Amino acid sequence: MSVLIFIDQSEGHIKKSSFEALSYGAKVAEQIGTTAEGIVLGKLSDDIASLGKYGVKKIHHAAADAFNTLDAQVYAQVIAEAVASTGATVVVFSNNLNGKAIAPRLSARLRAGLVSGAVALPDTSNGFVVKKGVFSGKAFANISISTPVKIIALNPNSFQVKTGEGSAEVVSLSSSAGTPKVKVTATNKITGQVPLSEAELVISGGRGLKGPENWGMIEDLAKLLGAATACSRAVADAHWRPHHEHVGQTGGSIAPNLYFAVGISGAIQHLAGVNRSKVIVVINKDPEAPFFKAADYGIVGDAFEVMPKIIEAVKKLKSA
Ligand SMILES: Cc1cc2nc3c(=O)[nH]c(=O)nc-3n(C[C@H](O)[C@H](O)[C@H](O)COP(=O)(O)OP(=O)(O)OC[C@H]3O[C@@H](n4cnc5c(N)ncnc54)[C@H](O)[C@@H]3O)c2cc1C
Repeated sequence: MSVLIFIDQSEGHIKKSSFEALSYGAKVAEQIGTTAEGIVLGKLSDDIASLGKYGVKKIHHAAADAFNTLDAQVYAQVIAEAVASTGATVVVFSNNLNGKAIAPRLSARLRAGLVSGAVALPDTSNGFVVKKGVFSGKAFANISISTPVKIIALNPNSFQVKTGEGSAEVVSLSSSAGTPKVKVTATNKITGQVPLSEAELVISGGRGLKGPENWGMIEDLAKLLGAATACSRAVADAHWRPHHEHVGQTGGSIAPNLYFAVGISGAIQHLAGVNRSKVIVVINKDPEAPFFKAADYGIVGDAFEVMPKIIEAVKKLKSA
């Protein structure tokens, strides 16, 4: 019996969301009186033993080249084998793109109950009950998992990363998983930008900005603050911005410390992807815009007048 945590990596580097999943998994292990172990696939340049500081005692590393890029079927098989060999009863993922691809496949393979989008530690006082957001974040549901193996996919930024002392024992993991059926023939990398899924600060624009030629002020503020840029679906659909920037029900789901929405109405489908942000600032010229109801701070005003003033103020603050 143990808690097994999937450690997500990209090009050999551990993703930030994994630190949160590790801290969460370690706490679940403590709660149910067992130990936490990690599993990571593919070649790594980061020192994985140091991940012990998040509370894991052991890390299983399947280092074959075949695992360098994600094939969710293959990853699910490797993890299923590790669940069998470690006797893990709880498996934790981050509910990011990779977690969303692997966790349901593992669930089907092991016939194990899965709660995706968990936002808190499970309640183990009477069974195993996991809280998650439902109806685009408008309500919470408490889901009871009764299968022998339980899978949790934790929403990013839902649990405080906890660090302590110690390093983990790294053991190599061999797997009977075959060659991935997915062959990556080319990758188109976005460089020089903060990845949206990992960003602490996000500056986002909507149709209120009138056209792609006005995105300079969004980019200027993002650059000054070291933030990522995002947009509404209406903007991406109009080809003003690339689709990978679109957030919401049908786009990316983010939970940064600051979400800065400029000229976005705040439709429920947009809010579904951003309402877990810690602080939301809204600039809209319509005082009745629905986004103001979800905002921590709101400015009723014309973005073309307000944004240059904010940019100037940030510049002044930075040079002071
Ligand atoms: C099934 C489904 C899924 C969807 N998924 C998504 C999704 O994932 N993400 C998403 O974003 N949308 C999604 N939508 C679309 C969503 O319903 C809205 O249509 C969309 O979010 C509107 O984008 P917007 O706020 O940029 O544009 P608009 O609704 O046109 O709003 C523009 C806002 O800008 C303000 N404004 C105008 N001029 C200025 C100015 N000069 N200064 C300041 N403010 C100004 C206006 O007052 C208005 O509030 C989905 C819709 C459906 C049906």
